[in-house]
Amino acid sequence: MTSYVIVGAGLAGAKAAEAVREADAEGSIVLVGDESRAPYERPDLSKGVLLGDKTLDELKVVDDGWWEQNRVELVTGDAAVRLDREARTVTLAGGRELSYDRLLLATGSAARTLDVPGADLAGVLHLRQAQDCEQVLAAITAGGSLVVVGGGWIGLEVAAVARSKGLQVTIVEPREQPLLAAMGAEVGAVWAGLHRDHGVDVRLGVGVEAFTGDGRVQGVRLADGTELTADAVLVGVGAAPNLDLAEQAGLAVDGAVPVDAHLRTTDEHVWAAGDIALAENSWWGGPLRVEHWANAQDQGAFAGRAMTGDTATWGQPPYFFTDQYDAGMEYHGYADPSDSTVVLRGAPASGEYVAFWCDGRGRVSAAMHVNRWDDSDALKALVTARSVVEPARLADADVPLADLAG
Ligand SMILES: Cc1cc2nc3c(=O)[nH]c(=O)nc-3n(C[C@H](O)[C@H](O)[C@H](O)COP(=O)(O)OP(=O)(O)OC[C@H]3O[C@@H](n4cnc5c(N)ncnc54)[C@H](O)[C@@H]3O)c2cc1C
Repeated sequence: MTSYVIVGAGLAGAKAAEAVREADAEGSIVLVGDESRAPYERPDLSKGVLLGDKTLDELKVVDDGWWEQNRVELVTGDAAVRLDREARTVTLAGGRELSYDRLLLATGSAARTLDVPGADLAGVLHLRQAQDCEQVLAAITAGGSLVVVGGGWIGLEVAAVARSKGLQVTIVEPREQPLLAAMGAEVGAVWAGLHRDHGVDVRLGVGVEAFTGDGRVQGVRLADGTELTADAVLVGVGAAPNLDLAEQAGLAVDGAVPVDAHLRTTDEHVWAAGDIALAENSWWGGPLRVEHWANAQDQGAFAGRAMTGDTATWGQPPYFFTDQYDAGMEYHGYADPSDSTVVLRGAPASGEYVAFWCDGRGRVSAAMHVNRWDDSDALKALVTARSVVEPARLADADVPLADLAG
């Protein structure tokens, strides 16, 4: 009987447990999580739960009964603190030692923090876990003014909810546009415009010098000397992969855990998936790390199958979605905007448009739509094929998207 241990009870870890059990009816499976909750999906922490459309309990990856029915031992509230690859054991903070034949690391990411004075004041919030979400929800419910530091996805989503609940919202982003690294300046400016249109004060090109207040945050001092009033602050400055265990165990770590096309690390008994994995991706033609929900879901299941002997190779374009106000967006693929040409189809001002990112060889390596849900499959096919398409045809709404791939 094979013993499987999965460290990290997030989406990737839970999906891996499901896949292992599907392929191996006999093996023992232990899923170890340091949070007190059973695995849950995070996207609604910055959307549905804050809007009041969903509860935290509705985010569970599987029903409560699933674990026992499928003979998967779920350990919650206990962190894996030591990995001995020689002995093939994982030690938990509570002292328990687990032996494994096959180990999956799916430890995900943690919210980055800002190292400025006042960062530890009450009311300076982050958003990664369910308990953070409870605090952000309380801040939004209390009303008043919210300063969002960082124009990334989570910051923008929280800003959109807070604004729609009537708070005064300011976004502070040190770069020239929000979402600059993901979308580039042109499309980033469209998202900035969306927020301004909804009454958000979007401050670009200026950083935070300090959070001010006596015990509890009352203001934010910007690098240009501006003092903003704040009843609460959301720091949304990105996430950093949780690599402590991999590093402690002496695995090769390069800002992430590099894995091959079977999601296996340099140790033949250890796999990695989800936010922490820098995975060889045959679609991309090289290693890619992806911090998105679909990647965690699909890689988790893929790694589970790989651990049971499946020899498939990993390779698919990343996928991401966001909802802000009445803008629903889906993004397929991957592009470095600083090295890409952006082509728009449709006018962003209409609220329905498509953006394409073409690489130096003219291949469409990423595409997103806003509120054009019927286009999603064609965009995915186009990006999957990484077709070379003339920019004029991409922009021409009279050319059906389905005619562009291949
Ligand atoms: C607020 C929010 C909104 C998001 N919205 C979207 C969205 O709209 N679209 C999208 O595509 N993606 C979204 N994401 C990203 C997506 O949720 C992540 O990419 C996904 O959760 C990654 O899954 P994972 O299983 O790799 O890691 P995680 O979800 O981070 O899970 C890892 C788990 O392992 C635990 N852990 C870490 N170290 C240890 C240890 N040593 N021992 C035991 N347990 C450990 C962690 O505490 C955590 O519970 C969002 C993320 C957040 C936080």
